[in-house]
Amino acid sequence: MNHTLSHDLFVRAQTLLPGGVNSPVRAFKSVGGEPFFAQRAEGAYLIDVDGNRYVDYIGSWGPMIAGHAHPQVLDAVAQVMRDGLSFGVPNALEVTMAETLTRLVPSCEMVRMVNSGTEATLSAIRLARGATGRNKIVKFEGCYHGHGDSFLVKAGSGMLTLGVPDSPGVPKALADLTLTLPYNDFDAATQLFELAGADIAGVIVEPIVGNANCILPRDGYLQHLRDLCTRYGALLIFDEVMTGFRVALGGAQQRYGITPDLSTFGKIIGGGMPVGAYGGRRDLMQQIAPSGPIYQAGTLSGNPVAMAAGLATLALIQAPGFYEKLERRTHQLCDGLEDAAREAGVAITTNRSCAMFGLFFTDRNVETFAEATACDVGAFRRFFHAMLRRGVYLAPSAYEAGFLSSMHGDIEISHTIEASREAFREARA
Ligand code: PMP
Repeated sequence: MNHTLSHDLFVRAQTLLPGGVNSPVRAFKSVGGEPFFAQRAEGAYLIDVDGNRYVDYIGSWGPMIAGHAHPQVLDAVAQVMRDGLSFGVPNALEVTMAETLTRLVPSCEMVRMVNSGTEATLSAIRLARGATGRNKIVKFEGCYHGHGDSFLVKAGSGMLTLGVPDSPGVPKALADLTLTLPYNDFDAATQLFELAGADIAGVIVEPIVGNANCILPRDGYLQHLRDLCTRYGALLIFDEVMTGFRVALGGAQQRYGITPDLSTFGKIIGGGMPVGAYGGRRDLMQQIAPSGPIYQAGTLSGNPVAMAAGLATLALIQAPGFYEKLERRTHQLCDGLEDAAREAGVAITTNRSCAMFGLFFTDRNVETFAEATACDVGAFRRFFHAMLRRGVYLAPSAYEAGFLSSMHGDIEISHTIEASREAFREARA
């Protein structure tokens, strides 16, 4: 594969953009090598500036569940943008979007549109703090909720050890308010609430963890969190920026039958445009300005072009059988990869939830962050590059979930499994 034009662009970019990119994981730091620059995308494929084609298992990190450049999404955008790109006054598409989101996710009786997942989670914890009058929030190791100060924190060794900022620039005083728990550990959550329950404004969780590869909740775990929050008067916040409209039409909360107090969304609801949203119980959402005192605003929030792309995508995913087909495809892919690995004598395991999956280089099941981080990262790196050379683009990190779109068909999946037969052999140390 020739990457001359990508290389030239990366050289230029590195003098102008930190690390040559506008979002860190794109820089291939954790797998080594250089990123390719996209020229265009269609269906299940990304095409780079040198003309190489890749089956894409990232889909712009989640939004492209209906495939890249879907004609219905592009047409909706083209039509709406002729009337103007932004108005700064309300527009009808915002109302339709709110009606659609509240219908598809019944725990959201009201919503507020924002411009990214980060904004959605920041706003949701401000609301949780404002509504409860408490300051502490609980998050889980390995969960990512955007780059807000309060989320760039991990716990020290003890559960109640004060939070240690993960990034310079996060004030310790703020990090102290973030308590961190191991995901899928029932007792740790119970004990934390016994010790600090009266101070906890909310628990924010990726109901299926997609930012530490892909980790599914143990039976009853999300209900356990729901029960603890209810008992102690804390709000349960499902961060469904990734899982929303991906693991089921109604997100992880529908799949597991849990009703959170607040939810955050992004990615799919923008169809590839910069969009986020948060929503939840009416009595909580009514505390947001201007109907209530908790402030949150946005110049471009509810942008008509973004709403059009999101609504067109949300229309596509409501087609009968959409998720059943995606789920079958994911199983076909993951079963195929497991078989290919076995034939190559490489130990892997996969986790799956509808259109989202994780691939781990280990011979064990992975149910915790510690187990996810114990996998063979070196083998993943070699596998990643071996697949890339064969035209398959996986997330450039061992700690990211993979995504399918409705445009991933038999051809793409067979190609991926075929490529993996040799790639697994190359991945052996
Ligand atoms: N929450 C989750 C679960 C995410 O996966 C992400 C981004 N990958 C975010 C929040 C932040 O969203 P954004 O990058 O749009 O700010």
